[in-house]
Amino acid sequence: MHAPSSPPPPLPAPNIDELNRPHWEALKQGELRFQRCGACGHSWLPAREQCPSCLSSQVDWEVASGRASLVSWITYHVAFNKAFKDRIPYIVAIVTLAEGPRMLTNIVNVVSEDELTIDMPLVLVIEWEGETAVAHFRPDSLREVHRA
Ligand SMILES: [Zn+2]
Repeated sequence: MHAPSSPPPPLPAPNIDELNRPHWEALKQGELRFQRCGACGHSWLPAREQCPSCLSSQVDWEVASGRASLVSWITYHVAFNKAFKDRIPYIVAIVTLAEGPRMLTNIVNVVSEDELTIDMPLVLVIEWEGETAVAHFRPDSLREVHRA
């Protein structure tokens, strides 16, 4: 018996609430937004009601430049959620935005993870997954050339 191949199920959507809505709405407009503390200047993602550093609730949204650097990564060869089965292998990474916040993301536009190095410069790529615009990153090849 052979099951007919069926299209993958829809991609899981983020849980959007009043707190993180500015982040998700900004991505639809082509911007990555993060939060910064008005009291101590600390910046972070994902959205929180209070600064994780000083617990101030003077929290503002800022637009990121889109520049980031690579902290660590792992290549997924197995789709633990069937919605991602057409995407494997794919790279899940932690990156640090130029403005400070760290975020979990995907690295795109790479053929193999051999191309990746710690601290390599990355640039933002906003991609649509169903109805959701998500922040991914790709290597900044231009800056690599300039560094060489
Ligand atoms: Zn603070």
